[in-house]
Amino acid sequence: MNTNELAAHWMPFTPNKGFKAKPRMLTGAKGMYWTTDDRRQVLDMTAGLWCCNAGHGHPHIAEAIAQQARTLDYAPCFGFGHPLSFELSERLARLAPGNLNKVFYTNSGSESVDTAMKMALAYHQARGHGGKQLFIGRERGYHGVNFGGISVGGITNNHKAFGQWIPNDHLSHTQDLELNAFSRGLPLHGGVEKANELEKLIKRHDASRIAAVIIEPITGAGGVLPPPLGYLKRIREICDQHGILLIFDEVICGFGRTGDVFASQTFEVVPDIMTTAKGLTNGAAPMGAVLAGDHIYEAVVEGAGAGVEFFHGYTYSAHPLACAAAMATLDVYEQEGLYRRGAADGDISRYFEQGLHSLKGLPGVVDVRNYSLIAAVEFEPLSGQPGATGGLIQTAAWEQGMMLRSLGDAIAMSPPLIIEKEHVDQTIGILECSIKQHF
Ligand code: PLP
Repeated sequence: MNTNELAAHWMPFTPNKGFKAKPRMLTGAKGMYWTTDDRRQVLDMTAGLWCCNAGHGHPHIAEAIAQQARTLDYAPCFGFGHPLSFELSERLARLAPGNLNKVFYTNSGSESVDTAMKMALAYHQARGHGGKQLFIGRERGYHGVNFGGISVGGITNNHKAFGQWIPNDHLSHTQDLELNAFSRGLPLHGGVEKANELEKLIKRHDASRIAAVIIEPITGAGGVLPPPLGYLKRIREICDQHGILLIFDEVICGFGRTGDVFASQTFEVVPDIMTTAKGLTNGAAPMGAVLAGDHIYEAVVEGAGAGVEFFHGYTYSAHPLACAAAMATLDVYEQEGLYRRGAADGDISRYFEQGLHSLKGLPGVVDVRNYSLIAAVEFEPLSGQPGATGGLIQTAAWEQGMMLRSLGDAIAMSPPLIIEKEHVDQTIGILECSIKQHF
């Protein structure tokens, strides 16, 4: 790659100068492994960016996209349709919990979040409650990078240069190292107390001003924080008591990461609106989907007069290639039993959990936490360089042939659900070695 080519690409969420001085190039991927430009095989312990749940290069998905490109490459979705998006919607509605039966397509998680927020506003307005315009997010929450998502997100770097223009407030995050360090599965302590904070926020703003609470069932990019026991149910209860909608951002948690299709099924809490993306197409085509409850659709669409009911949508909503990728992905998840493979009590999850928690006691390790195959290892910050250790461990692991995600002083993992024991063994070996290099 020549210097001009490297210079022209302004890379997202990347230290551009650092990358261009020492590029890390991926040129191929198959199953659990990447191929790099220097012909190394690198174990993918992050499913790309939490999206390739069925592993890479699946022939069924590749063929479906190719076939669709030859048949109908594009169809406008404003006022026209193509059959595949209706088939996919019916299939997703069948897979979803409760009354989440209406599917609106986007191209990413960020777009799904902003779409869900607009749906919440439109719902309240249609019911004569137009004053409900404030959203409650959570510290350390990540809801993408659009203006709605960064308003409800809780990671300071993501909004400090841009503002948080949608009215918002935030619950505390749920991490508590004193009560719940080294938890396996759901942390046991403090869930209901943490959720009760929502009542304080409702007192502060008044329910008549609050449109929705938006949270990830498991905080992902903010550090992998599974919800403490009882937390999500209590949040649901409080929302119901006060006429506040609950939005689950399942952009990471959806499509098998918790042992069911969606985390809301595993944790038995059904939101009013659910955002998805990533695993929907196994990362093979950009696509997001927002699943709205029947009551949302009825208020916004059935209750409106003739003409466009919801002034929102994207040129590439329900793109035929993405629909084909999604249909094929759902086939693969079903045929290969991948939803269950992510279950917390499954063989591979247990093996991974046990291996990972064996890192407790290594120098510098202050926490290991996981829900099934989603996990994080947190390190002591280096003196004078808070937030640097995750990047150092990530680089050490990359050099030894493994991709991790760095999140401040932690590293995160969310491997493809096709992971086998030999990959777990490789992971623990490389992690141990990388940790010992730095502490
Ligand atoms: N919501 C959550 C929970 C996410 O984890 C992400 C991305 O990681 C997003 C939204 C944004 O998705 P995208 O990067 O596809 O816009």
